[in-house]
Amino acid sequence: MKKEPRSAEVETLTRSYGREIFARLEGTGPIPFAPSWWDDRLMEWSMGNEAIKLQLFRFVDVLPMLGSPESIVRHLREYFGAAHEHLPGWLRFGLRRLPSRGFLGRLLATLAYRSAERLARKFIAGSNLEEALDAIAQLRRRSLAFTIDRLGEATITEREADQAQADYLELIHGLSRQVNHWKTNDLIDRDEHGPIPRVNVSVKLSALYSQFDPIDPAGVSQAVRRRLRPILHAAREQSAFVNIDMEQYAFKDLTLQIFREILEEDDFRDWPNAGIAIQAYLCDTASDLEALAVWAQRRGTPVTVRLVKGAYWDYETIISAQMGWPNPVWSHKWQTDANYERLTEFLIDNRRWLRPALGSHNVRSLAHALALAHIRGLPPGSIEYQMLYGMAEPIKDVLVSLGQRVRVYTPYGQLLPGMAYLVRRLLENTANESFLRASFTEHVSEEKLLRNPLEVRHIR
Ligand SMILES: Cc1cc2nc3c(=O)[nH]c(=O)nc-3n(C[C@H](O)[C@H](O)[C@H](O)COP(=O)(O)OP(=O)(O)OC[C@H]3O[C@@H](n4cnc5c(N)ncnc54)[C@H](O)[C@@H]3O)c2cc1C
Repeated sequence: MKKEPRSAEVETLTRSYGREIFARLEGTGPIPFAPSWWDDRLMEWSMGNEAIKLQLFRFVDVLPMLGSPESIVRHLREYFGAAHEHLPGWLRFGLRRLPSRGFLGRLLATLAYRSAERLARKFIAGSNLEEALDAIAQLRRRSLAFTIDRLGEATITEREADQAQADYLELIHGLSRQVNHWKTNDLIDRDEHGPIPRVNVSVKLSALYSQFDPIDPAGVSQAVRRRLRPILHAAREQSAFVNIDMEQYAFKDLTLQIFREILEEDDFRDWPNAGIAIQAYLCDTASDLEALAVWAQRRGTPVTVRLVKGAYWDYETIISAQMGWPNPVWSHKWQTDANYERLTEFLIDNRRWLRPALGSHNVRSLAHALALAHIRGLPPGSIEYQMLYGMAEPIKDVLVSLGQRVRVYTPYGQLLPGMAYLVRRLLENTANESFLRASFTEHVSEEKLLRNPLEVRHIR
C-alpha cells in the first residue's frame, strides 16, 4: 500500500471537523451507556477497578444459565468474593449476609437478573423480529439506517446452523415486507449510485456451519456456501444488502475466501449489495485490502468494506501468548488508530471497487474520514458511517446533522446467545484505551482526543 506523507491540509481539516463535532456534542446529555443513574454508577464503579470489572463480567456472562435464586446468590458471593479486597467495607459485609433462600433470596435473584437484562437491552434491540422492527422504526425517525444482526455465534450442531439460516431468511423477508414500504428518506435511502437497500443484514459465517474450522477450507467453504446461497438469493430478490461480519483472526482467511468464492458464482457476480468487515487492529490488513481491491476489480462489481478496529483485541493477545504464536494485532492503540486512518485513505482512493463504510465511534477517526472526503471532493453519501446500537448516541445525531449517512448495527435475540455480544460491548465501553471512556467519562481534553495517532507515538 502506497504510504504518502500526511498532508498538513488533511490534518488541519481533521482537527477542524473534530472541533465542529465536539461543539455540536456540547450539552447533548447522557453518557453513551446505561439508561439509569444506578446503571451509570455501576459502570463507573466497576470501571475503576479491573478485579471488580472482571468479576462483574463473569457474573453477567454466566447469569442466563443459572436456574435458581440459590445458584444466582451463590455465584454473586463466589465471584465478588474473589475480588474481596477491592470491595468497599459495606459491600463485603453485605456479601457475607446475602440471603439465598426465601422471599429475600428470590427478590435478590430477580433484581440481579433484571439489572443484567436492562444492561443487555441497552445494546440489544429486542428479543424478536417485532421488537427489532420497533427499534429500527425509532432509528429511522432520527434519520438513521440499520444493519440487523441475529445474536448467537459459535454454532455447535447442524440443527443450530439450519436454524440460523432460517432466521436470516425470516429476517430478510419479514423486514422487507415492512421497511420497503416506509416513506423514503433521501439521506439514508439514496447515494450517488441510486437507491440503497433499506434492509441490511449482518451475518456471521461461523453461525452457518457447526464445523467452521480453518483446517479444511474447501470443505467448510462448501458447507457454508450451501446455507449462505439461499440467504443471498433472498437478499437479491428483496433488494436487501448482506454484510459478512469478521470474527477472530483464526477465521479471517477462511471468511475472506468464502466471501470471494460465493460472490464469484454466476448468480452473484454482478450483485453489488454485499460487504465484509475488515479489522484495522490486525497487522496484515493492508495486504488483505489490496488483494480485495484487485479481486473486486477482476470480478467487475464493487463490494462494500466495513472498516472497524476489531472487537477481539484481548482475546487475540491472550490466545497468541498462550500458544506461543506471533500476536496478529498491533500492541499499541495508536498503531491501530494510525492504521485505521491509512486504510480509510486506501478505501476512499479505491472506492470504485471497495465502497467505504466506516465503523467507529472515535471522533478523531470520523473527523479524519470527513476531512479526506472533503479534500478528495467526494459527492455526499459516498462514505457511510456505522455505529453500534446503544453506543455513542449523540455522535450519531451529530453526524446526521452534518448531512452524513449513519447506519446502526442493531443486534436482536435472546439474552443467552446475546451474552458474548454483551460482554464484548461492556469490555469495549470500559477498556482503558477506549475513546468513549476517555471522552465521555474521563473528560480528556478535546485537543488530546483529536491528536494524530502518529503524534501520540512520540508522546508516549
Ligand atoms: C457497525 C459496526 C460493526 C462492527 N462489526 C465488527 C465486526 O464484524 N468484527 C469486529 O471485530 N468488530 C466489529 N465491530 C466492533 C468494532 O471493532 C469496535 O466497535 C471498535 O473497535 C471500536 O472502535 P472505535 O473506533 O469506536 O473506538 P476506539 O476507542 O478508538 O478504539 C478501540 C479499539 O482499539 C483497539 N485497541 C484497543 N487497545 C489497543 C491496544 N493496546 N493496541 C492496539 N489496538 C488496541 C481495539 O480494536 C479496540 O476495540 C463493529 C463496530 C461497528 C460500529
